[in-house]
Amino acid sequence: MVNEIQVESILNKHRKRDDWFLDDYSVNPYYGCSFNCIYCYTRGFRYGENMPGKLSAKVNAPEVLEKQLRRRAKNGEYGIIAISTSTEPYQRVEERLTLTRKILEVILEYRFPVHILTKSGLVLRDLDLFREIDKSAILPDDLKNELGRGVIINFSISTLNEKLAKIIEPGAPDPFERLEAMRKCREEGFLAGISYIPALPFLSDSEEDLERMLEMAREYDAAFVFVGSLTLFGNRPYDCRMVYYKFLEEYHPELVPRYRNLFRRSFQPSKEYRKKLQEKVKELCEKYGVKNGLI
Ligand code: SF4
Repeated sequence: MVNEIQVESILNKHRKRDDWFLDDYSVNPYYGCSFNCIYCYTRGFRYGENMPGKLSAKVNAPEVLEKQLRRRAKNGEYGIIAISTSTEPYQRVEERLTLTRKILEVILEYRFPVHILTKSGLVLRDLDLFREIDKSAILPDDLKNELGRGVIINFSISTLNEKLAKIIEPGAPDPFERLEAMRKCREEGFLAGISYIPALPFLSDSEEDLERMLEMAREYDAAFVFVGSLTLFGNRPYDCRMVYYKFLEEYHPELVPRYRNLFRRSFQPSKEYRKKLQEKVKELCEKYGVKNGLI
């Protein structure tokens, strides 16, 4: 069941460009997400419960975006628009509603660059629009040489273990379907890669897990890889911290004390863990010849 809602604003301008994804703006065509990943930061971070019953489509988003982008373009305020940061732009309902597609049509008209973040092969439906955006987008001056592309397509993966993926990302396509979609994007000449975010402590972050992910990145021709650690927010029953610990208690009770020790009172693992993770990724990216990050 999808609610249809009207919004007054759809374009979020960040205070500062994202260091990793390089976006200055974000657009979220939906509120909530039917993929229901248990680690989804939108549960407990700012947006509260994220259950399928709460999924809403922002049906007037293309019209609202048209007004907002017209003004930004007139002032020359070009920047990469991330689609999406708090929902999945290509979840199942998009097949019927085509909201993301209509939003991309507006973006093409005003010549903004985009960074697509997805777990779905439905993204392939819009390659025709991406081709046009890639050619015509106006990048901010400082990214013109460094990046030089108007479209980035980023496939989010947290594990290559299909059994585990089914439990932690119950509504999302299989990770290998995502890799196949990425390969197709690369064959079509797009800048496409993998966000291995979040790497799950003791479940998908071992040296072997990371090595396998890099092997697959090379095999499926990823242009880049990002790896980020898990964040856990909130104390309400459907907040990701609570949902995640429930999952651990059910499937991996032996890991509960290790997680408590790793996270302590923070929303993220210890600094030492995060540093080691990034060092390992850097080393493996060099070994496999895959770019670590975008620029
Ligand atoms: S696909 Fe993204 S937005 Fe949707 S539940 Fe998973 S992490 Fe959250």
